[in-house]
Amino acid sequence: ERIISANFMMEDQAVELSLRPRYLNEYIGQSQVKNNLKVFIEAAKMRKEALDHVLLYGPPGLGKTTLSNIIANELGVNIRTTSGPAIERPGDLAALLTNLQEGDVLFIDEIHRLHRTVEEVLYPAMEDFALDIIIGKGPSARSVRLDLPKFTLIGATTRAGLLSAPLRDRFGVVSRLEFYTTDELSFIVSRAADILDVEVIGEASHEIAVRSRGTPRIANRLLKRVRDFAQVRGDGVITPELAKEALHLIQVDPLGLDQIDHKMLEAMITSFRGGPVGLDTIAATIGEESQTIEDVYEPYLLQIGFLQRTPRGRIATPKAYAHLGIPMPDSQS
Ligand code: ADP
Repeated sequence: ERIISANFMMEDQAVELSLRPRYLNEYIGQSQVKNNLKVFIEAAKMRKEALDHVLLYGPPGLGKTTLSNIIANELGVNIRTTSGPAIERPGDLAALLTNLQEGDVLFIDEIHRLHRTVEEVLYPAMEDFALDIIIGKGPSARSVRLDLPKFTLIGATTRAGLLSAPLRDRFGVVSRLEFYTTDELSFIVSRAADILDVEVIGEASHEIAVRSRGTPRIANRLLKRVRDFAQVRGDGVITPELAKEALHLIQVDPLGLDQIDHKMLEAMITSFRGGPVGLDTIAATIGEESQTIEDVYEPYLLQIGFLQRTPRGRIATPKAYAHLGIPMPDSQS
């Protein structure tokens, strides 16, 4: 596993549980999404109604699951958590829905991976808070409508584009989570250090933040690794020098790129004259799945302007050449 992967790893579990903000005022950044949600939550509470269904999308590790739990906490309701691929049959979803209480949140992670047949059960549930059940078989089969408690569906996805239009249209609130700024991530690192009872001094939290690829999950993971170095090599205190050295030793460069990012960009530049190169070709050169590159690694490289997507493939930009110290060819054809 790559340390700069935004995907959840088992090693994250313990730390994430203790670091996960519980209320909106502890949730750093994403101010636009937060401010809107505050209003919607307040209004729903005043009307004593369930909050509109919410779709959260954006790259992994930006806080979709965290925010969903916060929404439930702010509403003062229960949350049930599941994921698209985990709901195998329509009956599984029916069981989840009928067990909800009025106002509860049902959180479906990776909602773009719902089975078609399951998705169809979700439409009337979201729209009319009803479940259509077919009783009997053949010509005598009839449909019975069952009322459901009014609930809030929160769907999370890294790929809003893969959602079917009828599903997407049934969300009243659609919010995109953005990469965090370095200042926001510094704040997240400081807060995490407080909770973990580690001393981080001066610019050290900034050193970790700039290499965290805009992603809180990575920031927390890097902090944990740097803490190990501080304990073994130092006196437990994370100084800027120690942070820099530790991050260098675990091969995370000053922009948060690892060896595999370097290998990928180098291959694009030296073997493919900077591109365009197809995603599958890139994937083959570094031995990753195309989908993982697209969902997990590439969004940050696009964000910092190292890669560009074109219909014919990916292009390495002048910024990428400069970062790797490779001169640009005079003319690119
Ligand atoms: P996602 O569901 O988008 O993959 P998570 O909600 O699981 O991401 O977030 C990963 C971890 O990052 C959380 O456990 C939490 O510790 C941290 N985190 C995420 N968003 C924030 C935030 N806005 N402020 C502080 N910590 C955050």
